[in-house]
Amino acid sequence: MIETPKNLTRNILFGMFLGFIIGSFFYYLEIFPESLVNFVRIYVFNLGSSIFVNLLKLLIVPLVFFSLVSGISSLTSMQSLGNITLKTITLYLSTTAIAVSLSLLVGSIFKPGSGYSSEIAPPDKLPEGQGIYETILDIFPSNIIEAMAQNQMLAVVFFSILFGLALNKTNHLTNNFSDSFEKLNTVFMQLVIMIISFAPIGVFCLIGKFVITDGLDIFQEAFKYVLLLIIVLIIHAFVTYSLIIKIFTNLSISTFYKKMKDVAIFAFSTSSSAATIPVTLKTVQDELGVNKNVSSFVIPVGATINMDGTAIMQGMATVFIAQMSGIDLSLFQYVQVVILAVVTSIGTAAVPSAGTITLVIILQQFGLPLEAIGIILAVDRILDMLRTSVNVTGDAAVACIVADSEGLLDKNLFDK
Ligand code: ASP
Repeated sequence: MIETPKNLTRNILFGMFLGFIIGSFFYYLEIFPESLVNFVRIYVFNLGSSIFVNLLKLLIVPLVFFSLVSGISSLTSMQSLGNITLKTITLYLSTTAIAVSLSLLVGSIFKPGSGYSSEIAPPDKLPEGQGIYETILDIFPSNIIEAMAQNQMLAVVFFSILFGLALNKTNHLTNNFSDSFEKLNTVFMQLVIMIISFAPIGVFCLIGKFVITDGLDIFQEAFKYVLLLIIVLIIHAFVTYSLIIKIFTNLSISTFYKKMKDVAIFAFSTSSSAATIPVTLKTVQDELGVNKNVSSFVIPVGATINMDGTAIMQGMATVFIAQMSGIDLSLFQYVQVVILAVVTSIGTAAVPSAGTITLVIILQQFGLPLEAIGIILAVDRILDMLRTSVNVTGDAAVACIVADSEGLLDKNLFDK
C-alpha cells in the first residue's frame, strides 16, 4: 500500500490554527498598512488556497475515471453492480430525507425566525439554480471531453461505468487491457498522496483567507438560525450516522470517526465535496477498508448527489424565512419541503455555497420572499464549511455500509 506522510493530521490542524491566528491578526489588529494586508490576502492566502484547491480538483476526473474503470472491469458479476447501485441510492436518499426532517423538526420547535427583523439588504442578483430536468440530462453526456472539462461528475461516472463494462467484456481480446487501468489507478493514488502532503500549507491558506476576508463576526447575524443549524448538523453527523452504521453493520463507530478526521478537515477547509473526493476516496479505501469496486462508485456519486448537510441548511432556512415573514407552513408543506430538499440537494453542485443557489428553488415553490436569502448568504461562509464536512461524512458512512453488506469491506484494515 502507498504510504501517507507522517503526522499529517497533526500538521493540518497546526496549519489550520496558524491560518486562523494570522488571519485574525491582520483582520482585527489595525496596525498594518492596508497595502500589506491586501498583499497578504491576495498573494499569500488567496493564491495559496487557489493553487491547493486547483491541485485537488486536477485529480478528480482522472482519479474517478481510472478507479471506476479498473473497479468495474474487474467485477465478476453484474448483479453485484446492480446491488451496489440500488443500496447506495436508497441510502443516500433516505439519509437526506432524515436530515431535512430533523432540521424541520428542530426549526419548528425552536423557531429561529420568530421575533427576527432583518436589516440586511437583499442581494443585487438572485442566484439561478439548475432544475431537475437538466440534472437528469447531465448524467448522459453528448461529449465526454466537455463533461470532463466541466467536472460533471455524474456524466464522468456514467461514462466510466460504460467504459469499464466494455473493457470487462473485451479483456480476452485485448490481452487483459484492464490491467493497465489498475496500474494507472495506483499511479493516481500516489499523486493524491503527493498533493495531500501539502495540505498543512493549503489548509493554512484556506483558513487564513476566510478569516482575513470576513473576520469572525458573522455569528452576530441571525444568531438563532446559525446556532440551531450547527446543532442539527452535529446531531446528524454524530447521531444519525452512528445509528445507521450500528444498525446495518457491526463496525466500530469510534474508529469510523477517528479515521474520518482528515476528510472532515479537508471538506471544512475547501467547502467543496468535489475538491475533497481524492481525500475521501483514499481514506475510505486505505483506512476504512472499503473495496475499490464500491468506493470508486459510491464516493464520486455521493459527492455529487448526497448532501445531507446542505439539505439541513435548506430545511432550516425555509423554516427561518417562513417564520420571519409570518407565514405558517402546513404539515403538507413540510412534507413538500422534505421532498424538494432531497431532490434539490441532488442537483446541488459540490462547490462552495452551491446550496444557497438551490435554496431559491424551494423558496420559490412556497412563495417565500427571495430577498431573505440575503440574510442566509451573509452567514453562509462558516455554515458552508460545516455542512460540507457533514456531506462527506455521509458519503463515507454509506460507502462502509454498502461495502460491508456486499462482503467487500476489509475489517482488519478498518480496525487497524
Ligand atoms: N459546499 C457544499 C458541498 O460541496 C455544497 C453546499 O451546500 O453549498 O458539499
